[in-house]
Amino acid sequence: MPHTPVDPISAHHDSDHHVADHHASVHQVSDHPLSAHDVSPSPIAAPLAGIPQAAADGAGRHVVVVGAGITGVTTAYELLTRGYAVTVLDRQRYPAMETSFANGGQLSASNAEVWNSWATVLKGLRWMFRSDAPLRLGLAPSWHKLSWLAEFMAAIPRREPNTIATARLAIAARERLFAIARQEGIDFSHETRGILHVYRDRAGWEHAAAVNRLLAAGGLARRPVSATEIHDIEPSLHGRWYGGFLTPSDSTGDIHMFTRRLAQACRRRGARFVQNAEVTAASADTRGVRLGWRTGDDVGVLTADLVVVCAGVGSRRIAAMLGDRLNVYPVKGYSITVELHDDISRRAAPWVSLLDDEAKVVSSRLGPDRLRVAGTAEIAGFGLDIRADRVRPLVEWTQRLFPAVATDRVIPWAGLRPMMPDMMPRVGPGRHARVFYNTGHGHLGWTLAAATAALVADRIAGDPAGRLDRAA
Ligand SMILES: Cc1cc2nc3c(=O)[nH]c(=O)nc-3n(C[C@H](O)[C@H](O)[C@H](O)COP(=O)(O)OP(=O)(O)OC[C@H]3O[C@@H](n4cnc5c(N)ncnc54)[C@H](O)[C@@H]3O)c2cc1C
Repeated sequence: MPHTPVDPISAHHDSDHHVADHHASVHQVSDHPLSAHDVSPSPIAAPLAGIPQAAADGAGRHVVVVGAGITGVTTAYELLTRGYAVTVLDRQRYPAMETSFANGGQLSASNAEVWNSWATVLKGLRWMFRSDAPLRLGLAPSWHKLSWLAEFMAAIPRREPNTIATARLAIAARERLFAIARQEGIDFSHETRGILHVYRDRAGWEHAAAVNRLLAAGGLARRPVSATEIHDIEPSLHGRWYGGFLTPSDSTGDIHMFTRRLAQACRRRGARFVQNAEVTAASADTRGVRLGWRTGDDVGVLTADLVVVCAGVGSRRIAAMLGDRLNVYPVKGYSITVELHDDISRRAAPWVSLLDDEAKVVSSRLGPDRLRVAGTAEIAGFGLDIRADRVRPLVEWTQRLFPAVATDRVIPWAGLRPMMPDMMPRVGPGRHARVFYNTGHGHLGWTLAAATAALVADRIAGDPAGRLDRAA
């Protein structure tokens, strides 16, 4: 059996529930989502303070972060800079192996529009039986899916304020992400040539112009561009376009590379990563939090002062164990990574990142030798199988728009977006004073994570209501 060694956390912890009892019995906590406390939507970022240089707030308190994707690793980092002792628990063997593995790459405030609209619902219904549709609603019913869809529709009236709030959060996030990358010297194939949204017809463009008003209200500057300008901005792009919008301040980069390198930086700052450890039980009481984990037949228990749940599509289950209701649904998407293995392909592939709204496809150049193309949304459960009929539209999109790019070396991937029904991440405390969440970032986790990590760490450090002291 693979064995993950767990040792006492750190010298500055005082009591015996700060140690991990390897092989201790795992105590099961019941799953009771219906009676649970709903974790409230995140507060919207005021400008974030700089990365703390003197770690004072944490005073050695021990926090367990569940999840080593982009949200968990940025949260760990922010807590470390505030003086907390941090352990990250993850069920995969390495960080960033689930949704933060091969996404679209866009750091896109310009993609802040939430999907809650009757137009999305109608498209989902119309495309139900088309296997290559950009949005596919699986037919098999489940309570999880039905409750999520009902809440998705209930959030339609909040589409405008939620879009504005998301744009604001995305702008705060990018400053933070760049500051972290500078501070830790992280190269992540970052391209700062902006994101270009392209439209084939007037109706699509006019919808984008209406969305633009919301993005502008959130503080984002983007400008309309004509078909001629589109070709000047990205000469490699083929096709007939009606017009577009350019967001020069948006950028792209490799989420996996960033997350792995930030995890290394966290280790250098003293974080402990316990990989291969699936959390199967979680509870909190006045003395601390207790997490039971399993690797194969091997089990362990980790205790700490606080927990932050950053478990992507696994967050719903862990929240239920902790008495919270968090209706994250796995919205499946696909990507292909096109290896640009010859000079012709390298010259014929775009450098400016694109979003083709009608096809719901994005592209990002990840350095000279790779083009990432991603898209499609499937509401069909937790399956991660890679289906040829879902990959094909991405390959054909690449061939149509960039005909000289060779597509004989294409790596397909599928991932599950951890999406809340109102598409707003949950960032903040749960029912119990020792439990926090930073999860549910849906289609924008790469874009938003740096801001929400700082927000949740500030919330923990600020402890504004003295909740922790009362709980202790
Ligand atoms: C096709 C596609 C394209 C996308 N494109 C973009 C884009 O261009 N821009 C953008 O901003 N976003 C994009 N996204 C969304 C973005 O990738 C996600 O929002 C983000 O990666 C989610 O990060 P996370 O940390 O919440 O989840 P994850 O990266 O999945 O991390 C969660 C971690 O929790 C662990 N875990 C779960 N359950 C347990 C458990 N019980 N015990 C222990 N560990 C557990 C998992 O192993 C995992 O490592 C895209 C997503 C997809 C699928």
